[in-house]
Parts: sequence; structure tokens; C-alpha cells
Amino acid sequence: MVSRVIPVEAFDLVIFGGTGDLARRKILPGLFRRFLSGQMTDDSRIIGAARADLDAAGFRTLVAEAIAEFGGKEAKETAAIAKFLERLDYVSIDATGDGGWTQMHDLMRDGVVRAFYFSVAPSLFGAIAERLHGYNIANDQSRIVVEKPFGRDLETARALNATLAQHFNETQIYRIDHYLGKETVQNLMAVRFGNVLFEPLWNNHYIDHIQITVAETVGVGGRGAYYDKSGAMRDMVQNHLMQLLCLIAMEPPNMFEADAVRDEKLKVIRALQRVDHHHIVRGQYDRDGDKQSYREDAENPRSFTESFIALKCHINNWRWSGVPFYLRTGKKMKSRASEIAVVYKDLGHSIFEGDEARHRNILAIRLQPNEGIDLQVTIKEPGPGGMRLIDVPLDMSFADALGPDAEEVPDAYERLIMDVIRGNQTLFMRGDEVEAAWAWTDPLIRDWERRNDVPKLYDQGSTGPDDALMLMHRDGRRWRDIKG
Ligand code: NAP
Repeated sequence: MVSRVIPVEAFDLVIFGGTGDLARRKILPGLFRRFLSGQMTDDSRIIGAARADLDAAGFRTLVAEAIAEFGGKEAKETAAIAKFLERLDYVSIDATGDGGWTQMHDLMRDGVVRAFYFSVAPSLFGAIAERLHGYNIANDQSRIVVEKPFGRDLETARALNATLAQHFNETQIYRIDHYLGKETVQNLMAVRFGNVLFEPLWNNHYIDHIQITVAETVGVGGRGAYYDKSGAMRDMVQNHLMQLLCLIAMEPPNMFEADAVRDEKLKVIRALQRVDHHHIVRGQYDRDGDKQSYREDAENPRSFTESFIALKCHINNWRWSGVPFYLRTGKKMKSRASEIAVVYKDLGHSIFEGDEARHRNILAIRLQPNEGIDLQVTIKEPGPGGMRLIDVPLDMSFADALGPDAEEVPDAYERLIMDVIRGNQTLFMRGDEVEAAWAWTDPLIRDWERRNDVPKLYDQGSTGPDDALMLMHRDGRRWRDIKG
């Protein structure tokens, strides 16, 4: 049932940071899967670039190991892996030095798409962009892909945008947010704008509130010191949760095209009301037996950084006036689960005698695990005994709906990289969107820093601090269960 694969144009893709964690876990195994599916043609090439003193053979060994470790069931396709490895090359390069750039220039071919994936620390973006031009490696049609974090506040994001703009047009810059590459996130747009059923009810007349949850079971151990400089607001809300909020709340674009979609998303961010600090709950996970607390993981006994955040916000426009959006995300939560839930209003009046229960339709869009869409509807409880109503899910999990083909649904990274080669920016963040998102989060962060706000402790394996439950209870609402 999965649509047939259309090969993309031939390309030369340079991965700066080709030996790093992200490249080994996501980018390279993902590219192999696209190769296996026939989407990446035989005349395309991937060139790793990092300081490590490797040659092409050394890089191929590293990639073969990465596919064995992170490639899933495709890791068994030994013949295809051997063919894929032939497409790989490597240049030893220091982003801030001069060695290796001439060699990279000589490797580049004319007549194919040139793309450069900056899978390195953002502090190196400027040096790489400058050298790609200085050594005539990039041309006007080249594309660059940049990873999060895109700045740590409005000022740094602006500086990063300005640096990239010195060398590349906005149409060449692909700011990646892998949440946008998830199948369900795109399905959200298909559901909203491809069916007559939902859009007429997608407003404050029918929707009571919207919940967005991104819960992780892992802590920050291993990268605690790095995380402690950012926290859940910067690491998750400013990018992933805001992007989900935009897609759920935006007006219909006039067509599904990059700037039309991004214009509408930008309007949502700009219409977000400033959040009062009483509507923000920040938390840190506590020690649990021999499991370290957040502060211990972060190696900062006086840390005020949040590993959990919940907040209530409003969008200042006609469609959403009076509809709260509740956002929460955290580490060491009870399950790994991400979902967007659209909770509809109660019926004004029930015609069924004795029906005391409050029945609500809920449209839940599950991002993980088990990507799918679930619509809670009210039906008659089966059997004799009169008209008793119960709420049941109309569940469409991709695994059930698509059968074995569901496994063929590409991972977010591979899908997004193919979009880069196709030149389709719809699922990438535009510079002004990123800046607008920081312009909204910056004052909230500054405010809690000024107040020396101390995050509330929460139990590991829980749903966050009790205050987060209160955020909803005060409004007569409750969070949906976090089910992994
Ligand atoms: P990493 O494991 O530390 O890898 C960094 C890569 O950059 C290595 O290949 C390293 O190789 C190379 N590098 C470092 N300094 C260099 C220089 N001066 N010149 C050329 N190459 C250099 O980092 P990562 O986790 O892969 O993350 C890469 C980027 O993706 C970061 O911006 C990160 O924030 C972002 N990101 C990562 C993840 C993830 O899951 N890992 C998720 C989202 C975003 P050499 O040391 O050999 O030069």
C-alpha cells in the first residue's frame, strides 16, 4: 500500500561531522535505507568530512559499523551494503583550517545536486559556510542543512542567520527539525486539509482545548553538562513543540508549498500571547534510590535548569480565542510517548435520559510509539438494558492500516534528506520562524531567571511535578495519560 518510490536526482552530499554521533545513528543508516529502496540513485555520492585522519576505506568501515549497529533489519542486507559503501568517500578537513578544502573542491561534480549537511557544532557553521564559498565548492544551486540548536536565544539565532545569509540565500538553507519529518506530523496536515470532516469543527466553537505532550523516559546522563546550559524550554519547546503547535493551529495555506505553509506557521507564532509565570511549571527529576537526580546527572548541585516544563498558552486570533493550548515535555517520565490531543467540547445537551457522564470527542495524533491517529467517539454500550453511552477509540495505527508496508515508512531523517535533494523546503524552518519562536520564549526564560525560580522536584517514572497536574485541574481539565 506504500506508494512507489520515485528516485531523486543524482547528488553529491557532503556530511560535515560525518564521523559524529548523529551521522552514525541517523543520517548514514537513513541514507542506506533510501539507497535500498531505490530512491538514491547509483550515481549519487556521500562524502564524509571531519578532522579524523581517515581515508575512504576507513570511512566505509565506520559506516558499515554504523549500519550494523543502527540500521535495523536492513543491517542484514550485506550485498546492498557493499554497493552502498562504494558510493562513499571521505575528506579529512578542519572546519577552521585550510587543509582538505582543495581536495573537496576537486571531488565535486557538475550536473548533480550539491548538498552540505552541517552535522557539527553551530559554532563551526560560519567557518564552513565561508570556506565552501572561498574554495568555490558551493554554487548558487547548492543546499545546506543545519541542525538544532539554532541559537540559544533571539540574539544568537539572529547572528547565526546573518552569518549563513552572507553566503547562502534563504532558499538554499534547510533548518532541520526532525519532528516535522515524522509521518504522523505530515498526516496531521492531510487529516486537517484533506478531509471535509475536521476543518469546519477546527475552532473555538467546537474545541475545548489542545494538549501537546512529548515525554521521554531517558534522563540527561552522559550529556548532562551540555543539557544544563539549555533546559527543556530551549531544547524541546522552542523548536519541536512550537512546530507541532503551529501545524495544529495554522490557517489553511493556499497550497501545500514551502512559503505558503511557513507564512501560516509564522503567523501562529507571532499571535502567541505572552505566558504569565503562573501558567508555567518547571521541574527537575529527583534522586530515586541509586538512580541519580537531575542535578547529579548535570554535575551541577545548584542547577536551576528544568528537565520538565508544562505551560498553558493562548493564540490571539479569531479561530483560537479562548482555547488554551497545554504543552508539556520532560525527561525521566513514566513512558516514552508523544501525542497531540484535540479535545472537543461537551455536547450542550444530552438527549439520553440518565446519561450523567461527560462524553467528549478527542482526536489524538500519536507521534510515538506506534504512530497513528485515534478518534474517541461516543457509542451505545452493546447489549440490552437501555441506552447507555460509552466512549471508544476509532483507532488507525499505521502498523494496522498499512500492514507489513508500515515498516517501509521512512524515518524522519531520511525523508527530510530526500526533501533537501528534491529542493522542497516545506518541512524545514525558515529563518524568520526560528527568530519569532525565540522572541516568544526569551522573555519567559528571562523572567524565571530574574525571579530565581527553583524547579519543582518530581519522581522519576512519573508524569512530572504535581503542579503540572494543578495547571489543568484549576481549569477543570486533566492531562491525558502518558501511555508508551
Ligand atoms: P559529535 O558526536 O560530537 O560529532 C561532531 C562531529 O563534528 C564529529 O564528526 C567531529 O569529528 C566533527 N568535528 C568537530 N570539530 C570539527 C572541526 N573543527 N572540523 C571538522 N569537523 C569537526 O556531535 P553530534 O551528536 O553528531 O552532533 C552534531 C550536530 O548535530 C550538533 O550541532 C548537535 O547539536 C546536532 N544534533 C545532534 C543530535 C544527536 O542525536 N546526536 C540530535 C539533534 C541535533 P572530528 O572530531 O574527527 O573532527
